[in-house]
Amino acid sequence: MTDAFKPLLDNAENILITTHKSPDGDAIGSAVAFSWFLTAYGKKNHILLPDSPAGNLMSFLNGMPYSYFEDFNIPNAEFDLMICLDYNHPYRVGVAMEPIVSNMAVSKIMIDHHPNPTEFCDLTISRPEVCSTAQLVFEVLNECRIDSYLNKEACEALYLGIMTDTGSFRFPSVTAKTHEVLKELLQRGVEPHIIHEKVFDQNTKERIQLRSYAISNKFIHIEGTPIAYISLSQEELNRYDYQKGDTEGLVNIPLSVKGISISVFMKENEDGKVKMSFRSKGKYFVNEFAQKYFDGGGHKYAAGGISHDTLDETIKKLILYSKDLV
Ligand code: 5GP
Ligand code: MN
Repeated sequence: MTDAFKPLLDNAENILITTHKSPDGDAIGSAVAFSWFLTAYGKKNHILLPDSPAGNLMSFLNGMPYSYFEDFNIPNAEFDLMICLDYNHPYRVGVAMEPIVSNMAVSKIMIDHHPNPTEFCDLTISRPEVCSTAQLVFEVLNECRIDSYLNKEACEALYLGIMTDTGSFRFPSVTAKTHEVLKELLQRGVEPHIIHEKVFDQNTKERIQLRSYAISNKFIHIEGTPIAYISLSQEELNRYDYQKGDTEGLVNIPLSVKGISISVFMKENEDGKVKMSFRSKGKYFVNEFAQKYFDGGGHKYAAGGISHDTLDETIKKLILYSKDLV
């Protein structure tokens, strides 16, 4: 599947790297690593992000050639290849940026690990069994025998992606291959504790207080089911001076409680819509549920979606449809 990759790359001069909206550690890690790789490989490149990541990921973008979509002013004609990382449908970059992904008249390569890719790229490298796009980027470059162009900074970014998409190397998606890739990254200079501190030791007092409040006051177990949920309204978020990323990972907390195998986190956005995150373990899967009821999708054990109802109505719907989850 990767045979066509190197020729497409070799024929390009200036490459636009794209990833999904609200970019997470895997999106940022894959994009930053790819940019370092391309520069070392002798290709001009630029990272185009639909919007900003959480504050704790910003340091990985320092010094990188990147723009947010709203500030992007490089003419499309300057690019001759697009790389689509960590998403498999144009709508995942958000309504504003989607026309660029759908309409830019260049060759496109997808490198992604989500199930059910849409065919919008000239080359689709889709491996849903791989834990992270970051690991897949390494695999692809390794299979093409060009992974030697990954410098220490690129390896740190790949480590970021693998670490964040596997809950620090503990999800079922982690395999011996994951650890083989990690070994390679460490041999090229990555110091795990440094990446871990950069990502996880970035709390503010308000952030911790918001999370404590959510756990103490908003953790609801749906009686008689293995499902628990946490919801936060705009008013509650504002009370704790919410900053992007402050609720990241909160959805995993209920899953650590005995007897809970499905966790849902709901956050009211400024526009009144509700962003939903689903996590599960064992025999329970959440992606089809997210797709069917909440306009979303994702992986078996980690999915997301959006509700156009109020927060209260969304919670009622979740409880009503929860029979479908178990
Ligand atoms: P998170 O809960 O971290 O926002 O998202 C978890 C996973 O669910 C993501 O890796 C992504 O695969 C998927 N996901 C999140 N939001 C959406 C969405 O709105 N639509 C789709 N199709 N997938 C989503
Ligand atoms: Mn990912």
